[in-house]
Amino acid sequence: MSQMKSYSFQGKRAIIRVDFNVPLHKETLEVQDDKRIKAALPTIKWVLNHGGSVVLLSHFGRPKNGPEDRFSLRHVFGRLQDLLEAPLGFSATLEEGILRSKELIAGEVLLLENVRFFDGETDNSSSLSAEFAKLGDCFINDAFGSAHRAHSSTAGIASFFPNDRMMGFLMEEELNNAQRVLSNPSRPFTAIIGGAKVSDKMLIIENLLSIASDIIIGGGMAYTFAKALGGQIGNSLVEEDRLENVKTILSKAKQLGVKLHLPQDSVIADSFSADALTQITSSHQIPEGWMGLDIGPNSIDDFKKVILSSKTVLWNGPMGVFEWGPFSLGTRNIALAVAEATALGAYSLIGGGDSASAIAQFELLDRVSYVSTGGGALLELFEGKELPGIKALG
Ligand code: AMP
Repeated sequence: MSQMKSYSFQGKRAIIRVDFNVPLHKETLEVQDDKRIKAALPTIKWVLNHGGSVVLLSHFGRPKNGPEDRFSLRHVFGRLQDLLEAPLGFSATLEEGILRSKELIAGEVLLLENVRFFDGETDNSSSLSAEFAKLGDCFINDAFGSAHRAHSSTAGIASFFPNDRMMGFLMEEELNNAQRVLSNPSRPFTAIIGGAKVSDKMLIIENLLSIASDIIIGGGMAYTFAKALGGQIGNSLVEEDRLENVKTILSKAKQLGVKLHLPQDSVIADSFSADALTQITSSHQIPEGWMGLDIGPNSIDDFKKVILSSKTVLWNGPMGVFEWGPFSLGTRNIALAVAEATALGAYSLIGGGDSASAIAQFELLDRVSYVSTGGGALLELFEGKELPGIKALG
C-alpha cells in the first residue's frame, strides 16, 4: 500500500520536493517540454483533494553563485498554474515562503524559488534543511530525477519529519519499474547500453553482468571494446585508460555465461559532422582518419534478433550520434525493435536522458512499457547504489 494513500493530509501543509528542471525555449524562456511538471501532478492533486495544502520545492538548472534570472522558477510558474487548476502563489525568498506557508489554506499551493539559489543546498547544509522544514508539517519526495543527490531539499530535510515523510507517486512508480528489472526479471533479460563514454557506464555494465542474460553494447563506447579485442578503430572515440577494465568485463561475461553483443559493423565518417562523408565497414577495420558514428546494418540485424527474443529489455544510451540524420538509423532501429518486443509481450524500461529523447523523437513513447524521468538516478540504481534521496525516507 502506498504511503501517500494511508497518510491523512487533512489540515496539513505538505512540502513536496518535485523535479521541475524542465527545458525552456532559448528566446521566449517559455517551458518547452512540460513532461516533468505533468508527472508531479498526481501527488500534488492527491494532497489537495484530501484536505491539505502544498509547498513545492525544486531545483532548476545549475546556478553557480546565487540567483540568476534564467534559472528562476518564475519561468515555470505560468505553465504550472495552467496545469494545476488550484490557487498558486510564488515566494522568491525563504523568509517570505515560511511566512506565507503558515497562511496556506486547504487546496492552495505555494511554489518556492529555485532551491539552488539558497546557500548550502548542494552541500546538504543542515541549517538550510531546518529552514526548509519550517515550510510544512510533512515531507514528500517525488523528485526521482534528483534522488541520487544528497542535497538539503532531497535528503537533509527528511530528518526533520521522522514520522511524516514519504515517497510521492512518481517516485514509487519509478522504483517499482526499476525493481521489476533489478530483482528477478523475466528472462531472457537484455540490457542495451550505449552512449559516448564507457567510463560512465562501467559500473552499470559490471552490475548487470550478474542480472542480465544478454548485454548489447553500442555507441561511442563500443570502440573501446573493439580496440581491447585487437581491432583497428581509426579515429573513433576511445578511452585508453579503460582498455584493461573492458578486458575484465569481457572475460567476466564469458565466465558468467552472459552473452555480450558488440557491433560487428559501423557507419563511419571522415569528420565529426552531420554532413561528413560516410561508408560502412567492419568495426574492427576502421581506416585512419575515419571514425565510427553509428552501428551498421549487420549490427542492427544482430541486435534486433536478440531484442525480439527477450522478455525484459532495459535500454540506456544511444547507438550512435542519433541527433544527426545520417547517424540516427542504429538508434532508430533499436528503438523500433524495443517497441516490437514490447508488443510481443516483453517488459521494456527506457532509461532517462538521451534514450528517453530518442524514444520521444521517434514517436514511440506509447509503445514501450515505461520511460523513466531520471537519467543519473536510474543509472545509479542500476549500478547497485543506494540513492540518498530514498535512503533519507527510510
Ligand atoms: P551519454 O550521455 O554517455 O549517454 O552519451 C550520449 C551521447 O553520445 C549522444 O549525444 C551521442 O551523440 C553520443 N554518441 C553516441 N555514439 C557516438 C559515437 N560513436 N561517437 C561519438 N559520440 C557518440
